[in-house]
Order: sequence, then structure tokens, then C-alpha cells
Amino acid sequence: MNEKPSISNLAAIDAAHHIHPFSDMAELNARGTRIIERAEGLFITDSTGKKYLDAFAGLWCVNVGYGRKSIAEAAYRQMQELPYYNAFFGTTTPPATLLAQKVASHAGPNLNRVFFTNSGSEATDTWFRMARVYWKALGKPQKTQVIARKNGYHGSTVAGASLGGMKLMHEQGNLPIDGIHHINQPYWYAEGEHLSPAEFGLKIARELETKIDELGEDRVAAFVAEPIQGAGGVIIPPDTYWPEIARICKARNILLVVDEVICGFGRLGEWFGHQHYGVEPDLAPIAKGLSSGYLPIGGVLVSDRVAEVMMNEVGEFYHGFTYSGHPVAAAAALENIRIIEEEGLVERVRDDIGPYFAAAWKSLESHEVVGEAQSVGLMGGLQLAADKATRRRYEKPDDIGTLVRNHCLENGLILRATGDRMLASPALTISRSEVDQVIETLSKALDHLR
Ligand code: PLP
Repeated sequence: MNEKPSISNLAAIDAAHHIHPFSDMAELNARGTRIIERAEGLFITDSTGKKYLDAFAGLWCVNVGYGRKSIAEAAYRQMQELPYYNAFFGTTTPPATLLAQKVASHAGPNLNRVFFTNSGSEATDTWFRMARVYWKALGKPQKTQVIARKNGYHGSTVAGASLGGMKLMHEQGNLPIDGIHHINQPYWYAEGEHLSPAEFGLKIARELETKIDELGEDRVAAFVAEPIQGAGGVIIPPDTYWPEIARICKARNILLVVDEVICGFGRLGEWFGHQHYGVEPDLAPIAKGLSSGYLPIGGVLVSDRVAEVMMNEVGEFYHGFTYSGHPVAAAAALENIRIIEEEGLVERVRDDIGPYFAAAWKSLESHEVVGEAQSVGLMGGLQLAADKATRRRYEKPDDIGTLVRNHCLENGLILRATGDRMLASPALTISRSEVDQVIETLSKALDHLR
């Protein structure tokens, strides 16, 4: 074993050699990076020994909480038996096959097959190609255009960043690539003006129809959206939104792609977000909660409609990753899902801790700087407001969110800030007293905005 370097050495090594994702490196190196060393349950510990309640499940992913020895053991056993073999050229491994069956058993009735990837971004690239291949095989090669949403997030690969609607990402690398279009998001608080949430939900959903007309129905392959935008700020759509989106996709014969990377595996109190909203996707990328982040793995749930064309008309799909269906990652994911089933975590979110969290989160609306505090299951978004009565927002939303986040961090709570929205997404195992701790610490941090 190599000798472990001291903390200050590790920070210096990090500054010299490690480029972090989504980080301003100059700022990071000036401040010094936070080094996380261990975790258990909902708590992570940094290299100074400070403990934090992680109300963000890492990056929306550690659904079963930290420290699950049985997942480590399942991975260890698999690594000894068969550390690697691939799913290319007509082979498979037992964990990959069993995982596909297990995932399909929990998804909507028409989603019976899975294509594995290593991440959500690769899952995005996979369905993006598959959608175009599908239409070409049906004799409609001109159906290539894909409609997505402003402020959506679908990953960091070229297709992922293009499909996402993040301006700052588009500005780096000349994105989006051709053939991708963005419509408005269902963000009632900021953009609903005088409409009721229900009216606004319908209006924004119907922008999809307008965009299809503009592009020509025979040129549009698919529409993609997250059930609830995550990275965009936990934007919970009005109830009228999803049924109208599903109606339009069906009426206009375009594939509905529901990005389940965050909302899948119990986050919304159902196995998948599409079940919460009662819609049936044609394709659904997954990742994160699939393995609770213990090992990298993602995939695309493929409906019978698409799978039949891929199998009967396309033949070979020239697409795949060396580690698609990696047996060790698949074994870890299988054990993760076994835990979710055995502990009834999806039902717990729906019937017990989800409603408890919702009431506690909503109580923050009594704070004078909170415009709205909404949640579904264990996914919460809180809107900071300069003036509640008029829904006026702060002039420098990023500074405001960062301030609140930093106060939380100082007091041992990890939440995320996106502009002037505070986001929570804890492990599905969070206890009532841990929920209380989140609310108390956040409430005190909000006092600094008074
Ligand atoms: N889709 C959604 C909705 C996401 O939130 C993310 C990541 O946060 C991705 C796709 C990309 O997943 P990954 O970071 O595993 O590539």
C-alpha cells in the first residue's frame, strides 16, 4: 500500500494535477479543495474531521445512503468471479442480464428492455442515436430533429450538453449541434406572469405543438424532458403539463423521451418519474439511483414499440461502450435494487417520509424570503424571493443562493443552490429527525437574507 499523504499535501497535489468538473479552478485553488474521506448513512466526513448531513445524496444519486456493506460485498464477489466481460457481439454476463430484467420489472408496462451505459450522459447519446435510427428504419430518414427544453439538463457529452438547455454550456464548444431545438420550461414562479399554474402548464406544453408545426411533423424525431428538472432548479411542473405533453407526442407521432436519471429509483415516491406523472415514455435514460452511485452505471429503458423496430428492422445497432453492462457495476446495482425492494424505500417515500418532508419543507414558506417551497417525494425546490407578494426576485440570484448554501455548509448541511433556488434531494433512508435538522439549519441560513 502507498503511504497516505497528509491533508495539505493532498490539497497541493490536487491543485497541481486534478481538473474538477463544473468548478472554477482558479477560485478552487485559491480556496483549497474540500476533501471528503468517508461516509455513513446520510453523513459525510471531510479530511478535517468535520461531519455534514448530505441532503443532496452526493449528486442526486446515493438513494440507499452511504456505507452499505452488502453492495461492497456483492461487487467484491463479482470481481473475484468475473471482473469483466462485455455484452458485445452476442455475449452477456449473468449480472447484466438479471439487472435488465429487474429494472424492466419496475418500469411502465411497455418498457421491457434496457441498453446499458456507464453514465446518464452516455444514456442521452444512446437514445438520441436510437431515435434517429428508429425513424430511418421506418422509412422516415428525414425525422431527425429533437425538441428539448431551456434550462433542462441531460449530461455533458456533446449531445447531452446540446440537448440540455443550459446557456453557459452552449457557449463553450459551439453548442447546440444541429437538429436540436429548445422550448420554454414550465417554471411558473418566474415566467407564469398573470396566469394560474394550471393555465401556464398548458400554455407551455402547447409550445411543443407550435414547435412541431414550425419544424414540420415529418421532421421531428423526439421530445425529451426530465419529469422534474433537477439541475435546472427542481422546477416542478404544474399538474396540467405532463398529460398535455404526452397527448401531443402521441397525436403528432413523435417519440416521448423521459429522462429518469434523477427521478428514477424512488426519488418521487414511485419507481420512476413517468409513473408519478402517469405518462408512458418510448425511451427513458437512467443512471444515478440505479446503483446509488456505488459504481458508475446507466442505461436506456426501451419501449416495445422502439425495441421491435430495432430488432426486426435495424438489425445491428452500431453503438456500445466497452463497459456497457459491466458485471461488477451490474452486481452492485442488483444489490442496490434488492435493498430498495427489501426496505420498501419507494413506498416509504410515497407514504411516510415523503409526506413528512413535504410538510416540513412547505413550512419554510412562512419565512419572509421564501416565495415558494415545493416538493415531490424527496425532491425539494425552494424559491428565494425579494418580495413575496409580487414574486419579485433578487437582482443577483446566484449570489443569494450561494450565500444561503454557504451558511448551510458552515453549519454542517449540504444542499445545492441553483441561482435563487435551494435544492434538496436526500437519500431515501433519511429519518424524521434528519429532515428536522435540514429544515432547522436551512431556516437559520435564510435568516441571513432578512
Ligand atoms: N440527465 C439528467 C436529468 C441528469 O441530472 C444528469 C446528471 O446530473 C444526466 C442526465 C447526466 O448524467 P451523468 O452525469 O451520469 O452523465
